[in-house]
Amino acid sequence: MTTARPRHPSPSGFPLRFLRGLTLIAAISLRADLPPAPPADPAWPRFEFVAPHMGTLFRIVLFAPDAPRAQAAAAAAFARVAELNRILSDYDPASEVMGLTRQPVGTAVVVSPVLFDLLQCSQELAVASGGAFDVTLGPMVRLWREARRSQTLPSPAERTAARRASGHARLRLNPAHRAVTLGAPGMQLDFGGIAKGFAADEALAVLARLGLTQTLVAASGDLALGDAPPGTLGWKVQVDPFGQPSPESWSLVATHVGVSTSGDTEQFAEINGIRYSHIVNPATALGLTSNVAVTVIASHAALSDRLATACRVLAEGPSDRMDECLGASARAIVLRRRESGPLRREVHGGNPPGLRSHL
Ligand code: AMP
Ligand code: MG
Repeated sequence: MTTARPRHPSPSGFPLRFLRGLTLIAAISLRADLPPAPPADPAWPRFEFVAPHMGTLFRIVLFAPDAPRAQAAAAAAFARVAELNRILSDYDPASEVMGLTRQPVGTAVVVSPVLFDLLQCSQELAVASGGAFDVTLGPMVRLWREARRSQTLPSPAERTAARRASGHARLRLNPAHRAVTLGAPGMQLDFGGIAKGFAADEALAVLARLGLTQTLVAASGDLALGDAPPGTLGWKVQVDPFGQPSPESWSLVATHVGVSTSGDTEQFAEINGIRYSHIVNPATALGLTSNVAVTVIASHAALSDRLATACRVLAEGPSDRMDECLGASARAIVLRRRESGPLRREVHGGNPPGLRSHL
């Protein structure tokens, strides 16, 4: 999953972080039949829930009038994440995405609204980023996974074949019929660069529908933030861009934004002493090798997630394209570790409305 690991200290200073192997902290009751919570009260206590989803741990922090309501809301939010995984997973042969990629090339296939919407916004970013972000790069991501397993780089022939089976220009969308046509044999769709952010947004929306709005949902390196915790200006999030607290860690205070970090500290393949990130460069069909972490703050987490992945690829070249993709209301913090000399920190893009401050 993501390489950098944002952390969120609660108002009481308890850090929100993913602990490997942690099982579900709270026994989640399935009582989703409770009426919506009354208007938020500053005296509401804080609750925290963790559950494994999408190959990582999802964490929900919320303020609620009582434990039954908190548990029921968290259960409903986690159920939505599980539902999205059944649509978007490229590990589950029964997912909608996997079913789509088994259809004959050139056949228009009607898909669910969730899948179509995600394909549409992914395609828009693919064009804007000049192909840096591209959900059709599934064949290249699979080569990367195989390289990590076998500790051997793919051959030039395998990379050429993966290139032929990829490419956003070979995927056609027909909004009138919500239909998708794959235009290359062997094309695989990979939503790893957007699904967790989207799922975090959707979980936050479920909580809001149940009357809980002082909420945070974190999915590894992707966070969706709701209203501020009681008595504060916003959620204080500590970002550890290189995976662990370090001198490069920094923090922000925000509400109603998505925060996503992309890099290579958690998911990488080390082959012949070179570290290949799980984010692939479409130009080479290999994982990125530079030591760079990008954190994006945007209006919601599906956007910060895909922009962070795109900007991580674009950080290899000139910054104009990155600025274009970010626009006026998303911001990227790019940290470059170099062999010699100090770390380089760049800020790109504009001002996300929910961002109160960042250091
Ligand atoms: P993230 O951690 O959000 O940056 O997403 C990384 C994941 O996105 C990888 O594990 C792949 O599943 C997928 N991915 C890798 N490279 C790309 C790319 N260039 N464009 C879109 N998705 C990618
Ligand atoms: Mg991403």
